[in-house]
Amino acid sequence: RNFDDFPVEQGIIENLKNCGYVEPTPVQKQAVPIMLEGRNLLACAPTGSGKTAAFLVPLINDLKGPKKKGFRALILCPTRELAKQTQRECVRLSEGKGFRVHIISKINKAVAQYGPNSSQKFDILITTPNRLCFLLNQDPPAISLTNIKWLIIDEADKLFETGNRGFREQLDQILLACTNKEKKIAMFSATYTPVVAKWCVHNMKGLIRITI
Ligand code: AMP
Repeated sequence: RNFDDFPVEQGIIENLKNCGYVEPTPVQKQAVPIMLEGRNLLACAPTGSGKTAAFLVPLINDLKGPKKKGFRALILCPTRELAKQTQRECVRLSEGKGFRVHIISKINKAVAQYGPNSSQKFDILITTPNRLCFLLNQDPPAISLTNIKWLIIDEADKLFETGNRGFREQLDQILLACTNKEKKIAMFSATYTPVVAKWCVHNMKGLIRITI
């Protein structure tokens, strides 16, 4: 399987090649078609295996181009550094599409940006759960997730780690705010831990699991 075999817009294939990628990595070969079919996905793949592009390619293809209404995709990352890296990859792979790829940088600024009187619109949101939940916890919530079509949870095993005790509650809160019944979830994890497995079985209908 080659990049040209992916049933996605030609522009995305060109963007992949412009990144210097010659052929898809194993996780890309497996995950892209599953997400393109609109299935919930749990992918166990080590860091450095090309998982970022594996979820970004179908996501970008599915969202097509920019829309006026708020966020349609949400990518949760364990750290700000990873969120920034993911944003960079997202900007490169969606070049020419006109997407607004946003990362929550300053909390106070963010509250004003997404609040009810904001005129700014974005398509893709990349953030850590802490920052997102801070906004959701405002009264009234300072961000709306009602249009989210894709929820991506990256490095899920890190997010669920015992040091991050609140993550289960945060994820449940985020999921509750993503009210679109058609939404899909893709979770990427380096390891298949019982806590990850349990959450997926409870919350991801008809999920497909792949292991690299
Ligand atoms: P990731 O696992 O998403 O953090 O990706 C690890 C590294 O592999 C990043 O530097 C990517 O830019 C790179 N990468 C992703 N997909 C490919 C590919 N198909 N061919 C070569 N390098 C890739």
